[in-house]
Amino acid sequence: MQERKRVVIIGGGITGLTAAYYLTKQSHNIDVTLIEATDRLGGKIDTLKKDGFTIERGPDSFLERKVDAKQLVQDLGLDDELVRNATGQAFILSQDRLHPIPKGSKMGIPLEWKPFLRSSLFSIRGKVAAFNDLIIGRSEENGDQSVGHFFRRRLGNQVVDRLIHPLISGIYAGDIDYLSLNATFPHFKEVEANHKSLIKGLRESDNQTNKKNQQGQFMTLKSGLQTIVNQIKAELPQESINLNQRVTHIEKKNDSYTVHIEHQNEPIEADDIIMTTPHRVTEKIFSQYDFIHDFSDAKSTSVANVALAFEKDAIDIFLMGQGLWYLEKSNIELQLVLGLIKMASYNTRRTHSSSSVCRKTW
Ligand SMILES: Cc1cc2nc3c(=O)[nH]c(=O)nc-3n(C[C@H](O)[C@H](O)[C@H](O)COP(=O)(O)OP(=O)(O)OC[C@H]3O[C@@H](n4cnc5c(N)ncnc54)[C@H](O)[C@@H]3O)c2cc1C
Repeated sequence: MQERKRVVIIGGGITGLTAAYYLTKQSHNIDVTLIEATDRLGGKIDTLKKDGFTIERGPDSFLERKVDAKQLVQDLGLDDELVRNATGQAFILSQDRLHPIPKGSKMGIPLEWKPFLRSSLFSIRGKVAAFNDLIIGRSEENGDQSVGHFFRRRLGNQVVDRLIHPLISGIYAGDIDYLSLNATFPHFKEVEANHKSLIKGLRESDNQTNKKNQQGQFMTLKSGLQTIVNQIKAELPQESINLNQRVTHIEKKNDSYTVHIEHQNEPIEADDIIMTTPHRVTEKIFSQYDFIHDFSDAKSTSVANVALAFEKDAIDIFLMGQGLWYLEKSNIELQLVLGLIKMASYNTRRTHSSSSVCRKTW
């Protein structure tokens, strides 16, 4: 008879839960133990239901092109819960004015010339710089580079600072001049390599996709992302979930691991471990091993997340349409003040008929 494997998963966020779910589902020879430091599962995912509103305190949606998340929802039998984000006109706040994002731009890359050239967001010099993409050819750089470096070389600083940065930092909450291109948008590097131009390459692939099929790229669940967490929890053997247990350190002994937990004398033995804790925590847990100290170089970022609920009638800027109002890179103070006021335009999908929740993350 095959010996049973003991797999210990550290961290009960969506990564740990997903690992526990598929391991338990796909293999009958594995005993899964999930260890979570706090008294709840979900980690950053945290849906608040209040006064009839569904408010996400952490993530609120996932990109459809990242197929694993949608697959997980389907595997959990939650297909009926899936909804897309609404699409609408989005704006950039730049130099104290709102500018509509030029039509036909993809992640800030201009694919239609007319709306780009007519846009009030860029100066003539900024517009001319974007044409560079058509003539500079592919880059000779090997290895990784920052997203900012990649786009600045191809489209110039203005298009990056006024359009690409606000859009991308809205997703990754980081400074694009420090974000890894390989980790975030490897596809753009391929387009550059294959077509020598982002604009030409993306226009070609855009022409191939059925325009009628173009819809919101983000998906979420009607009842909030916490539903995914709750469903995984319901499907896991309850004895495999351990809350309020903080892992302090882990030792490797030959082919197994000893997992030490705060305030517990008896450590847990494991044949395999899956670490899903934030990188700073992981570094502490393995602090006796030199290789882990490379993690110190990886900077973390912090975000503030504000949700407001109000009667739709109270604010007339809804007349201007739906969509996020992004803020230009250099406008930090303005972001904080105006972002709070202007975010009223982020009219999310989960609304009462007469009221709306809007949410803004910095
Ligand atoms: C405000 C905000 C908005 C976001 N919006 C989006 C979005 O819209 N779309 C999107 O795709 N992504 C979004 N993200 C990112 C996304 O939320 C995360 O990438 C994802 O939730 C991370 O999941 P995880 O399981 O890897 O980590 P976490 O959710 O961080 O889970 C790690 C778990 O480990 C536990 N833990 C920590 N230390 C220990 C220890 N010593 N022992 C045991 N357990 C421990 C923690 O308590 C936690 O439960 C957002 C993030 C934030 C903060």
